[in-house]
Amino acid sequence: MKRRASRAIKIGDVTVGGGAPIVVQSMTKTDTRDIRATTDQIRGLEECGCRLVRVAVPDKEAAQALSSIKRGIQIPLIADIHFDYRLALLALEADADGLRLNPGNIRDPEHIKKIVLAAREREIPMRIGVNAGSLPKASKQKSIVDQMVSAALEHIQLFESLDFELIKVSLKAFDVPTTIEANKAIAQKMPYPLHLGITEAGTPKRGVIRSALGIGALLYMGIGDTIRVSLTGDPREEVFAGYEILKSLDLEERGPILISCPSCGRAEVDIIGLAEAVEERLQKMDKPIKVAVMGCVVNGPGEARDADVGIACGKGRGAIFRKGKQVRTVEEKDFLEALMAEVGRVQ
Ligand code: SF4
Repeated sequence: MKRRASRAIKIGDVTVGGGAPIVVQSMTKTDTRDIRATTDQIRGLEECGCRLVRVAVPDKEAAQALSSIKRGIQIPLIADIHFDYRLALLALEADADGLRLNPGNIRDPEHIKKIVLAAREREIPMRIGVNAGSLPKASKQKSIVDQMVSAALEHIQLFESLDFELIKVSLKAFDVPTTIEANKAIAQKMPYPLHLGITEAGTPKRGVIRSALGIGALLYMGIGDTIRVSLTGDPREEVFAGYEILKSLDLEERGPILISCPSCGRAEVDIIGLAEAVEERLQKMDKPIKVAVMGCVVNGPGEARDADVGIACGKGRGAIFRKGKQVRTVEEKDFLEALMAEVGRVQ
């Protein structure tokens, strides 16, 4: 797919846009004032491959905590600001690597000007983060999509008038078609990188589906430079889901891909249990490898041959394949260990 050309910005040492690899990011769920808890959560996210992290800054104490949090983490830290422009200034003083502002609740041009000038001086990028749920008051004639696009463009023009172009933009809604249409529209109207997400997407069970559809559809059109899967749950799930979306579209080679059949009445082994056990073992690996776990001879040998490593199971025995060749057959009790041994042999 041809990706939309966007300008590159740097958030800390991470490039977003300009054709750089799509960046998976997340947001902490801890009280930002609790420095220990927030730092620990961010370290957990780093271990999962999260490349940018955002924290809520609801008050002065949270803003001031940023510099201590930054000292304990490796990835760039973005301050999420709503309502009070002074918190943005404090976050900049506390060395935030990026800011997110919501045009729906920081409206006074003089306040925005103060933030922009302080960010410009420090060369800190800002995201104009429009949410369908907190839009500025607009003409009732306009559709939600048009209101979202107008809110973003209005802020972009204000930033540009102050000679500030370290801009990233997001237009998020809970509604997937609204998010897709809004991003398609804004993508043609401005050159800045786009942060994609479905807001308030829900618990992992449903939120991953909504996010995969919304984010995935846009990425498939070549739109999007960084993604955040918003889930009501452990933020590491957000990072895991983000990479699965990228890998599903061949936009990222990080980590293993598991191909497993759903099982059916033909399977004569516990294929679901085996796939779950393999998934758990693969989660701890970084190697970009395709592993197939298949239940019978219908599609089994074909998929197992096409993967880097695969198993096609039959009654009580399974054929193990590596790089297209059957390397051995094993008994059911040895399926997991034999498969993982072959995974270890692939460079
Ligand atoms: S590979 Fe075999 S067991 Fe698995 S779903 Fe297909 S037919 Fe069923």
